[in-house]
Amino acid sequence: MIRIKSRNFNPQLGLALLALWVTVLPQIQAQEAQLPEMGSPAEALMTPGAERRLGQSFIRRVRETLPLLDDPLILDYIESLGVQLLAAAHEDPNGFQFFIIDQSVVNALAGPGGHIGVYTGLILATETESELAAVIAHEIAHVTQRHLLRSLEEQNRLLLPSAALLIAGVILGAQVSGDAGAAAIAGAQAAVLQRQINFTREYEQEADRLGIAMLAQAGFDPYAMAGCFGRLSRSGQITETNVPELLRTHPVNANRIAEALARADAFGARQRPDSLRFHLTRAALRERAYTRPEQAIAHFSATLQSGRYRELQAEHYGHALALVRAGRPEAARAALAQARQGQQQLAEFVILEARIDLEQGQTEQALRRLRNAISLAPEHWPLRLAYAESLLKTGRAAQAIDELLAVSRLRPGNPLLYNKLEQAAIRAGNLGATHRFRAERLYVEGERELAIKQLEIALRQRDLPYHEAARIQARLETWKEEHNTKPNQRGERR
Ligand SMILES: [Zn+2]
Repeated sequence: MIRIKSRNFNPQLGLALLALWVTVLPQIQAQEAQLPEMGSPAEALMTPGAERRLGQSFIRRVRETLPLLDDPLILDYIESLGVQLLAAAHEDPNGFQFFIIDQSVVNALAGPGGHIGVYTGLILATETESELAAVIAHEIAHVTQRHLLRSLEEQNRLLLPSAALLIAGVILGAQVSGDAGAAAIAGAQAAVLQRQINFTREYEQEADRLGIAMLAQAGFDPYAMAGCFGRLSRSGQITETNVPELLRTHPVNANRIAEALARADAFGARQRPDSLRFHLTRAALRERAYTRPEQAIAHFSATLQSGRYRELQAEHYGHALALVRAGRPEAARAALAQARQGQQQLAEFVILEARIDLEQGQTEQALRRLRNAISLAPEHWPLRLAYAESLLKTGRAAQAIDELLAVSRLRPGNPLLYNKLEQAAIRAGNLGATHRFRAERLYVEGERELAIKQLEIALRQRDLPYHEAARIQARLETWKEEHNTKPNQRGERR
């Protein structure tokens, strides 16, 4: 898990952590008061419902304070890696949610409620797909072993305020802020934190051990865990001021690497070629790392010319992305053809080609292309989202709403989708739907009172079709009921 250090502090996040602390604490106390004395310690500390609410508070704070990358294809790729590992571990993927933090930090983190965050810096720093999978497997193991809750349990229950601080601190680790408020609390609880660090090593070992087994069972190279830690700790990127976060928060010593190697020996080496998507994802991240597309074009042209690349198709793909961003669709199409090498149906390629079509004003071709791809893979949400966005760009807002609703059924509870739905409803001039989607977004963000107000505004719209009004009314009644019976964000009952 996470070792807290005083450098690299982010004041903004500190405030958020403070808020998380304030938000979370009463919930824990409220839960604890009504708990029977049974079950494993972690279960005794927090009910599944309380843990889910804690997870929601956590992800909301993360969204408010960290730059999240919402690129559907990149997120979908990371999710697919997670799902492969979870399947190998016989874990239900529905208990996990992945998110990507758009920072050059080399790290990953596991929060409450199965939320696993991967930094773009990590994706770029890993040399093989097995290494990336190794770090994700390690974080998954923290979740399956309930390390977060167990670490809370190790605190004396009388010290719950500091335990709540630990939730925030442990989760967001090295980024815990040094701003005045949080620093004061951290100072007062320094002894508690020190104890936390002591039993953290045990959890790190456990996460390594289970992560390595997960890797092997999923067909990745089990030596990648040791390889990743070892290579990062030796690599030239480590200087006094630039230690990868992964090492700061997951301290690596020779002993830990040796243990990881020994555990991998039990499974034996596995040769596994990296998937094309691994390389495409990294090329897309490298491309976006350049502020100006011309810089990205120069980068990919140079690597292609000199032959200094890991994967030729991915290099052409990055080049094509840069060209389309620079407003050169024709050149982009040529680069894409080089990247594709006959792989017609890969979503990365289909979506980029549709984008090039749109750039060239070939609207119908873009829509047809995406529709064809969706007919072959109806559950593929990045394709459907690209289709919805293309519809919106071409002024078909009502159709875009239908498509976005289909995506929201594939990925329920995603605030970004409701945000897009709201934008589409505005474009369609549908005020009732605008307020309804705003309400849905507020609801999944945990803002129940504001959500209810938005539904009430939606109901007051003139010309609201009867079935729409009935749906809103039903939703409103459910939410009001919940609001009256369940604890709200601050754990109060009404
Ligand atoms: Zn860890």
